[in-house]
Amino acid sequence: MDLKQLKEMITGNIMENEPMVNHTSYGIGGPALAFIEPNSIKDLQIVKSFAEKNKVPVYCIGSGSNLLVSDKGVNGFVVSLEESFKNISFDENKCHAAAGVKLSRLVKECIKQNLTGLETLIGIPGTLGGALIMNAGAFGNEISNYLTSIELLNDKGVVEKKSANEIKFQYRSSTFKKDDIILNAEFQLDKSSQSKIIKNRDEANFNRKNTQPLKYRSAGSVFKNPEGFSAGYLIDQAGLKGKSIGDAVISDIHANFIINRENAKADDVVQLVKIIRDTILKKYSIVLELEITTLGFLKGTFDA
Ligand SMILES: Cc1cc2nc3c(=O)[nH]c(=O)nc-3n(C[C@H](O)[C@H](O)[C@H](O)COP(=O)(O)OP(=O)(O)OC[C@H]3O[C@@H](n4cnc5c(N)ncnc54)[C@H](O)[C@@H]3O)c2cc1C
Repeated sequence: MDLKQLKEMITGNIMENEPMVNHTSYGIGGPALAFIEPNSIKDLQIVKSFAEKNKVPVYCIGSGSNLLVSDKGVNGFVVSLEESFKNISFDENKCHAAAGVKLSRLVKECIKQNLTGLETLIGIPGTLGGALIMNAGAFGNEISNYLTSIELLNDKGVVEKKSANEIKFQYRSSTFKKDDIILNAEFQLDKSSQSKIIKNRDEANFNRKNTQPLKYRSAGSVFKNPEGFSAGYLIDQAGLKGKSIGDAVISDIHANFIINRENAKADDVVQLVKIIRDTILKKYSIVLELEITTLGFLKGTFDA
């Protein structure tokens, strides 16, 4: 495969053998065959068809803030829309935003328009695309609550528009197809007074700062909360706070966060994930399901 050819075909950036350490909030991960920042839908379509011809898988990510990448890296193209899919526009109570828009910026722009709905999501790192795939949420609110429609590039490289009710959103999950690349989304929000919206935002910010280990790199909560329980509470009660493997540590502040103290490896995080799961299964007969997404690991690495 000649990546020079692809470089001549698109206007976006292509970084060969790019370490994923540079593209994940964990600061962990070996090299991707290529890390690609397409400039347009056309670029994306070209990348997809080039990859298909060369039998190379394509993975779309946002800011990598919910992502653990293996130390061996990714045998495929990693595409991120974070650099160029950044447009936001408003039409009365409607907000239209591209998938690479940072969630924090989306919230700020909505506040400027006196639009309420998304402000409690303020501290969630990452892009709109990642938030929609994960159905990101905080303090009882989820990104899908105000969604009306999305546009995506499907596995055939064709742009499709879907209304929100064609996708099922549940707690930290959605039914987008594996190869769908979300391009943009539209939200219907409500008008409110700016001071009320800012109060909601500040409360959410305050609660987050008091409950999360934000001084260290992480990918947020590692496990989903099992029905009726908080994963962090169970891990804490099992006495696992502070346990470490290499530089990966179960946070003292929030036991559902595995933080990177400095130079943690993906394998360190994987070992802690196994320890937590085994302990919680033995103690409570509960299987903890991963919330973080993973890339580049051998099949079965995360089987419970
Ligand atoms: C300190 C910290 C706090 C956090 N707090 C919260 C919280 O309160 N609530 C919460 O829900 N999450 C939280 N998270 C997790 C994370 O920020 C969210 O899941 C976020 O929405 C992920 O966005 P991202 O752009 O970084 O996605 P990534 O991590 O890059 O990707 C996540 C998933 O989405 C897919 N994806 C990304 N963009 C696209 C696209 N355009 N098209 C198709 N697929 C795509 C990826 O393939 C991957 O499967 C936290 C993380 C950190 C580090």
